[in-house]
Amino acid sequence: MWATTLEKKLKQPTCANPLPFYLCRLKSAPAHKGASDRNIYMYRTHTCNELRLNNAGQTVTLAGWVAASRDLGGLTFIDLRDRYGITQLVFDMDDNPDLCERARRLGREYVVQATGIVRERTSKNPNRDTGDIEIQVTDLVVLNPAKTPPFTIVDDTDGGDDLRMKYRYLDLRRPCVQKNILFRSRLSLETRNYLAAWGFAEIETPFLIKSTPEGARDFVVPSRMNRGQFYALPQSPQTFKQILMVAGYDRYFQIVRCFRDEDLRADRQPEFTQIDCEMAFVHQEDVLQTFEGLTRHLFQTMLGIDLGPFPRMTYDEAMRRFGSDKPDMRFGMEFCDLTQQVRGRGFPVFDQAESVLAICAPGCAAYSRKQLDELTEWVRRPQIGAKGLVYVRYDADGSVKSSVDKFYSPDDLKRWLQACHAAPGDLLLILAGETEKTSKQLSELRLEMGNRLGLRSPNVFKPLWVLDFPLLEWDEEEGRFFAMHHPFTSPKAADIPKMDSDEHAVLKSIRADAYDLVINGVEIGGGSIRIHDRELQSRNFRLLGFTREEAEAQFGFLLGAFEYGAPPHGGIAFGFDRLCAVMNGANSIRDFIAFPKNNQGRDVMIDAPDALKPQQLEELGIALTDEHS
Ligand code: ASP
Repeated sequence: MWATTLEKKLKQPTCANPLPFYLCRLKSAPAHKGASDRNIYMYRTHTCNELRLNNAGQTVTLAGWVAASRDLGGLTFIDLRDRYGITQLVFDMDDNPDLCERARRLGREYVVQATGIVRERTSKNPNRDTGDIEIQVTDLVVLNPAKTPPFTIVDDTDGGDDLRMKYRYLDLRRPCVQKNILFRSRLSLETRNYLAAWGFAEIETPFLIKSTPEGARDFVVPSRMNRGQFYALPQSPQTFKQILMVAGYDRYFQIVRCFRDEDLRADRQPEFTQIDCEMAFVHQEDVLQTFEGLTRHLFQTMLGIDLGPFPRMTYDEAMRRFGSDKPDMRFGMEFCDLTQQVRGRGFPVFDQAESVLAICAPGCAAYSRKQLDELTEWVRRPQIGAKGLVYVRYDADGSVKSSVDKFYSPDDLKRWLQACHAAPGDLLLILAGETEKTSKQLSELRLEMGNRLGLRSPNVFKPLWVLDFPLLEWDEEEGRFFAMHHPFTSPKAADIPKMDSDEHAVLKSIRADAYDLVINGVEIGGGSIRIHDRELQSRNFRLLGFTREEAEAQFGFLLGAFEYGAPPHGGIAFGFDRLCAVMNGANSIRDFIAFPKNNQGRDVMIDAPDALKPQQLEELGIALTDEHS
């Protein structure tokens, strides 16, 4: 009985008349008080991407923006654009000179409503969904004229970055930008659907919270009612989602804005979005499986790509093989450690180096002197910071040539090549120095060579779980340990005893139940199993240099909550903007944010941030010095 009713329901069109889909949806939505259906639907019968040959002969009404017009004397053509696509309108001088004259006067981006008859086009446009038809217009209403836009509203626009951001509403009209923004919208819906189906509850957490010194810098908000006191905007809902676990909501998620007042490096935004999740009564494996499932679902439904099971690698292994905790797995070029083999031949650079590391660039033996010099310059740029670059060319005929021939025999060089699994035609690129720095530099060089060799295709997706991150990270400048993930991350059970050690090396070797999801060399998500025991959390705070009082003042609420029945729990947060960008093979998250900030953290459309009036400042109890006013 139930099944048949449901079936009927599903089969029934949502509205009786064959209206276009967006009207059907509207019709099923609750009616506005006092507004008749006709009023709601009057503007258009179809979208600009809906009409096809089988609509020929129908009278239709479209509404949209004038994307382009062509005046061919007797005929005037208008491309009418809306969010869905473009439909060609045609005005015939012979049929209706008056109407044609009005059409000629339409400027770009005018908002118009056109009624007419769908007819087959004589010269079809195969590049457009509606390219087989056009509308022979019988009635035209200008809904709103428009000033000439400061740049063309097309994918390949002539507008520079600043101009486009100032007039973001025009930029957002461009089809390629709309595509990204609508992708994002669908991605968040798919995320919600998936997580809801798995029993996750979406729960909002506050934006006005308390500032904590850990992590990045906070954005702060003065409190008028509590003069001299400030809220902070959350860098993430971390503590709140843990509190929700204590409160018994064992599967939580939120697609949530986070705020970090950092110096803006490329592709960082002061406000960004996370898919933030937490689960109770889980081990690391449960979290990995759940969110591997979500990621696979998103790639499958959005892109039709089956990512397959995700490979896993420990942090130590990732660092050893790729010099990075987020290796791009679309290509190999793994590190080869030559430190031992290169010693003792009188080449001081190698003899004195803590590490001598190589990568093997496939098929690059034919690099010219000039190319090698240029590559050397590349690694010596301050951003990379290497002192020099040693190469070994393994020519196709088997001969070997290097920049250190003076110190090493061809046999020596051949041994290196062998160690690096080089084949004739390959090129070894070698960096030397302090291990950590050299690894980092070689990792950059590996990515650069990957780019140059076209091995980082935006259409290939290689996910990777990186596991067992260190719990602590030493900060040279501050002379203290910081939490590598965050202070609530649990050490691995086996490593807990090491927390009592005084030795740096021992503390550095404590592993955490922390994991990152990496796709194509981009950190897409990161999380951990949390500490849920007050005593262990206090010990961790101590390791991080908090006094008892400081820990109590800043996180007393969490420590307190742990005394009232905190379940074991863990979670993860995905960078939603980044996920959008990576899924589209794009470099910039800004392309997927409707109203992004520029590199100076400014919104140039609304011109923010801005000064406040003295009266407002007064009310907030903030006094500016002359220098700032
Ligand atoms: N709150 C963490 C972050 O923002 C993610 C997590 O551990 O769930 O990176």
